[in-house]
Amino acid sequence: MYAPPVQRLITELGRLPGIGSRTAQRLAFHLLRAEKEEALGLAEAIREVKEKVGLCEVCSNLADGPLCRICEDPRRDAGLICVVEEPGDVIPMERTHEYRGRYHVLGGALSPIDGVDPEDLKLEELFARVAGPSGNGEEGVREVVLATNPTTTGEATALYIAEQLRERAPEVTVTRLASGLPVGADLEYADEVTLGKAFSGRRAL
Ligand SMILES: [Zn+2]
Repeated sequence: MYAPPVQRLITELGRLPGIGSRTAQRLAFHLLRAEKEEALGLAEAIREVKEKVGLCEVCSNLADGPLCRICEDPRRDAGLICVVEEPGDVIPMERTHEYRGRYHVLGGALSPIDGVDPEDLKLEELFARVAGPSGNGEEGVREVVLATNPTTTGEATALYIAEQLRERAPEVTVTRLASGLPVGADLEYADEVTLGKAFSGRRAL
């Protein structure tokens, strides 16, 4: 129906989450009408993130160097590690201004049905960090805050980590965000007041 380059653009846009075929067409026509610099600015931004942004060597958060901004910041408390599922979950936690520790991004949640097992997540990296210098980890981790999503997979992941840490690092306190977060929802969509309260009311696991 369309010239092949236009069809290709519609197909690529249609692969994005939440974009159906009609929206993909509308976006494609918007880009065709747009100024060349504006449209190429989008293409260039996509190229730049794919070339320059990787994962932090310590916490697996997004980083444009070996370390993310939070791991690089000496004012952040290294004794606290907040565990989240995705890099996108760090932003809402930061917006609460309740948290001054560091993070650990798992890269998902345990879900045996979908084939996501412990070795598919950054779990060994987390346990190594918590194990302290004797286990080649960081010095003085006092508390691990489990901020995985309040979903079935997020809860299962939190329980698994809590169990493992009880064995591997019994001296470290393990807490979970308090309820108040909408059950079944992603952290990403929680407002900062709710998330802030959930954080300050976190409980031991
Ligand atoms: Zn980091």
